[in-house]
This record gives sequence, structure tokens and C-alpha cells, in this order.
Amino acid sequence: MKTVKCEICDADIQGEDIDAWFKAAFAHWTAEHADIMKQMEGKPKEEGEKWMAEAKKRFDAA
Ligand SMILES: [Zn+2]
Repeated sequence: MKTVKCEICDADIQGEDIDAWFKAAFAHWTAEHADIMKQMEGKPKEEGEKWMAEAKKRFDAA
């Protein structure tokens, strides 16, 4: 189980692997940062992929 802090509010987000972590992060963002999720929706796909790549790096380093 790894813990990577939310980059917005410093909450702990945990997951067994990157897929589980993404699910937990998605649930957290949906609950706590719905406004930012909305902003990301309108952005090009590459932006989301870049964010996911960054998040994966942070997860791997945790
Ligand atoms: Zn957060």
C-alpha cells in the first residue's frame, strides 16, 4: 500500500497499485475538488495524460 498526498489539499490518498490509487484519487477529487475536475474536463486529452504521468511518477517514488 502506497500513500501519495493530494497535490491540492495534502490529504493522504492510498492505493495498492497505480490503478487502485487512481481510483482513490478520482473519488477524492470528485468529492473535494469538483471544480478543478470540471476545469480538467474541458482540457485536451494530453493535459490529462500529462497529469496521470506525473501522478504515476509520484506514486512510483512513494
Ligand atoms: Zn485533495
